[in-house]
Amino acid sequence: MDLKKFRATAARKKASLGAFLDKLDHIVPTEMPELVNRADATVWRDVNCMECANCCKTMTPTFNKADITRISAHVGLTPKAFKEKWLLKEEESGDWINKTQPCQFLVDNKCGIYEVRPADCAEFPHHNKKPFDAYNETFKNNLIHCPATLTLVDRLKKMVEKEYEWE
Ligand code: SF4
Ligand code: SF4
Repeated sequence: MDLKKFRATAARKKASLGAFLDKLDHIVPTEMPELVNRADATVWRDVNCMECANCCKTMTPTFNKADITRISAHVGLTPKAFKEKWLLKEEESGDWINKTQPCQFLVDNKCGIYEVRPADCAEFPHHNKKPFDAYNETFKNNLIHCPATLTLVDRLKKMVEKEYEWE
């Protein structure tokens, strides 16, 4: 994965793909789930998370209570010591997030706690969330972080513009 090239492409396409997602908030084709599934199936032929890990390098997951209990036990810390060592509480949302990026558990471009990773990481990049358009803001924010999301939204835009009247 050429992340330098990805960053350049994301910078170039961010505005137009963001505008497309904004539009989706108002005009959602009835066949949206089918379109998303079709586009997403093509994404994973071209994007390999094992060669990327850009989400772990540039973003933070949120750690819910169950995540903190499970992961702290896995690394041999109490939940309190785990939070003090690695996390901070985001003021606005009250979410527990990593103090620093890249994530402390990223080792050799792989997740060092894969079996017990936060639910947020297991669900990322959220392409299967339903309804897809309810996550437009998330996808908009992730366009510059996730090559899979950038590819999905780019392909979805092309499909929608080709198959639907889109003014
Ligand atoms: S916990 Fe694992 S998957 Fe989640 S951000 Fe850290 S390294 Fe990545
Ligand atoms: S989810 Fe996105 S950012 Fe994370 S490793 Fe996969 S392609 Fe890269």
